[in-house]
Amino acid sequence: MVEDRLCSKVTCKRPAHFTLTYDYDGCVMAIGPLSPVSDPHGYDLCELHAENLKAPSGWQVLRHSPFAGIDEDALDA
Ligand SMILES: [Zn+2]
Repeated sequence: MVEDRLCSKVTCKRPAHFTLTYDYDGCVMAIGPLSPVSDPHGYDLCELHAENLKAPSGWQVLRHSPFAGIDEDALDA
């Protein structure tokens, strides 16, 4: 059964379409399609917050489709 999942941003009530996961070893944040099951290490995000996500200093963001394949954002220090 598919549950209704919302963006994990506290003030946001939009439906989640993406899941953000952290790779702490590699300092990488990965945004991909909403994971089929709720990932305890992941954060569900709506389209707006997934697109606007900024990596902390020293981290990079990997975006999977539908953001035109995988590419790396420039570091956003
Ligand atoms: Zn949101």
